[in-house]
Amino acid sequence: MGGKTALITGGSRGIGKAIAECFARHHIQMGIVYRTHKKLAECCAGELEKLGGNARAYQCDLRNLDAIDTLVENVIKDFTTIDILVNNAGVTKFTPFLEISSEEWKELLMVNLESAFYLSQQCAKQMLKKKWGRIINIGSLGGERLISGVAAHYAASKAGLSGLTRVMAKELGRYNILVNCVAPGLIETDLTDALPIQRYKAFQKNHPLKRMGTPEEVAALVGFLASEQASYITGETFLVSGGLM
Ligand code: NDP
Repeated sequence: MGGKTALITGGSRGIGKAIAECFARHHIQMGIVYRTHKKLAECCAGELEKLGGNARAYQCDLRNLDAIDTLVENVIKDFTTIDILVNNAGVTKFTPFLEISSEEWKELLMVNLESAFYLSQQCAKQMLKKKWGRIINIGSLGGERLISGVAAHYAASKAGLSGLTRVMAKELGRYNILVNCVAPGLIETDLTDALPIQRYKAFQKNHPLKRMGTPEEVAALVGFLASEQASYITGETFLVSGGLM
């Protein structure tokens, strides 16, 4: 995969960071996108260079479409191309259905779904010039199944990513741009750190493997889907949930 360029949203921590490390080990150069944690992102880019990748951190609030345009322009200026896009950034809320305001709904959908649509469209315009591309969306088990505690807007945004994946795969296949979605179950990151201990114990009791997944276990599949070996796989959503249905 040496010589390819990737762009990973939310690439400086959690699942995104593990994906970036996996790519760096395969000598993929990349841009990692952060919103708030500048120092963390720059430090992460330094670590990725040590692993074998050429990495740069880009600040972008994905709720702002103009900022996404600027992000793509800057990445193209620095790396000349974008071959692999991972739409990983996401936010979660646990608000009950009857209490979700339209502002909260819009904001969550903007980060989790609309930014993935818009960034994919901008990156696909670059990929089709080379007739090679990979777009990998990070969905969620909560978008595929009814999971207790998963809020309506979060589930809708992640289910939306699966639908978007299928249609993009159909329309971009002619340009050899492959689009897939990876839907994790419960994974150990900052996002799940806030989980109350009682809920974690209930989860563990019912889980086939009796544990949460690690970011690296999600990254391994993303790394495969980005590779040449996955050249006949597109339009799919893959669960990485340790058997949790
Ligand atoms: P984290 O909370 O650890 O990280 C979220 C990332 O998203 C951060 O890098 C953050 O950037 C970025 N981000 C959030 N909002 C914005 C924004 N407006 N603009 C730009 N970047 C933003 O999440 P995880 O690593 O746990 O999750 C990664 C993905 O996996 C998400 O899409 C999540 O929904 C999905 N997922 C996670 C699961 C889990 O159990 N952890 C389960 C199923 C799906 P910054 O650091 O700068 O704030």
